[in-house]
Amino acid sequence: MSDLVSIFLHLLLFKLVAPVTFRHHRYDDLVRMLYKVHNECPHITRVYSIGRSVKGRHLYVLEFSDYPGIHEPLEPEVKYVGNMHGNEVLGRELLLQLSEFLCEEFRNRNQRIVRLVEDTRIHIMPSMNPDGYEVAAAAQERDISGYLVGRNNANGVDLNRNFPDLNTYIYYNEKNGGPNHHLPLPDNWKSQVEPETQAVIQWIRSFNFVLSANLHGGAVVANYPYDKSLGHRVRGFRRTANTPTPDDKLFQKLAKIYSYAHGWMHQGWNCGDYFPDGITNGASWYSLSKGMQDFNYLHTNCFEITLELSCDKFPLQGELQREWLGNREALIQFLEQVHQGIKGMVRDENYNNLADAVISVGGINHDVTSGAHGDYFRLLLPGTYTVTATAPGFDPETVSVTVGPAEPKLVNFQLKRSTPQAAPKRRIPNSGHRVRVLPKKVQPRAARKKETMMKQPQRGPA
Ligand SMILES: [Zn+2]
Repeated sequence: MSDLVSIFLHLLLFKLVAPVTFRHHRYDDLVRMLYKVHNECPHITRVYSIGRSVKGRHLYVLEFSDYPGIHEPLEPEVKYVGNMHGNEVLGRELLLQLSEFLCEEFRNRNQRIVRLVEDTRIHIMPSMNPDGYEVAAAAQERDISGYLVGRNNANGVDLNRNFPDLNTYIYYNEKNGGPNHHLPLPDNWKSQVEPETQAVIQWIRSFNFVLSANLHGGAVVANYPYDKSLGHRVRGFRRTANTPTPDDKLFQKLAKIYSYAHGWMHQGWNCGDYFPDGITNGASWYSLSKGMQDFNYLHTNCFEITLELSCDKFPLQGELQREWLGNREALIQFLEQVHQGIKGMVRDENYNNLADAVISVGGINHDVTSGAHGDYFRLLLPGTYTVTATAPGFDPETVSVTVGPAEPKLVNFQLKRSTPQAAPKRRIPNSGHRVRVLPKKVQPRAARKKETMMKQPQRGPA
């Protein structure tokens, strides 16, 4: 009983002294927050909904860009998704904090944030499972929170086990030959997934996302694909075989960027578990089928990792400020990682942009494709690569490229129509409806004035 009294006093005290923003946000409150940020930074933000939950709540996204609502060629798209499990709420609050932070720092002319917003189109979805959150939050208020209350959507489905299983195909292809990228959706996929999953799949198919993170809780570790173990049956939390992607080293680097910029994730010991460097291959932790991160990698150009951010899935309000300070630098640095490797335009001899051209990198069996504007992005570690662009009806073009550690290398392709037989042209006009194409200044990032935020001091394990 005395515990309850002390928690009550703690909460009361917090309510009196804490900054108003460090609190949990129910659905209406979350919507207000998104519009508040939009109203404070109307020229660099846009609020949009990608669809509705089972109970009809909107799945809102806050976009940051110097031209909101517009894809600028050669400017990469990146996303954060929070609260996919309704009871894992820290990501939801961190993404609201991040939104407020990006807006305020842009207004303060923090050069690092100005550059980020001008060079990147950032999509932030604080909650993918608003129905589950309401169940979890209501239980929390009545102090009857079970470990799994509110995890699933309103139909009782775990959304991170609800994406089409494409791993089975690539594991087959690995043995028998065949691609492991841009695998098609099953014909009847819409009837197999929940409304939230369907909305997210349509969302990630309609933008050419390059990089992404999915924010969870219940552990503190940066988890990278694959989540589904190759050739092992899932048995609870039994450790299964490490199952790397062809981009394993890149994924490890992306995960380490987060864990080392995080206040304590990289220390490895958290929540009674140990992960060297604070990162793990998903399958080597526990195998998970039909997850979102594997789907992103296997169906789209997007490289997604899963961030487990707190031991306590529903942290007390009083923890939120410390969590924000522990994650702030990591959330920014991870976004900046989209600016590495190579990018460029794929065009024909008449400078028409070629969409869906395939960009292959020698030695890495995972291709990316150009987007609707003919621009492509290929995240790569520093090194020298043989890169080939192909499109139906055109001769392939191969170049050797050396990638440095800083800004992405600009590598454009101009494909010549193949001579033997003219295949149908796949031309995408420059001026599509609703799409304003802006010439993008390409300026080396390293050449620009750097103004970095102070890294937060490290703290002990949560
Ligand atoms: Zn989760």
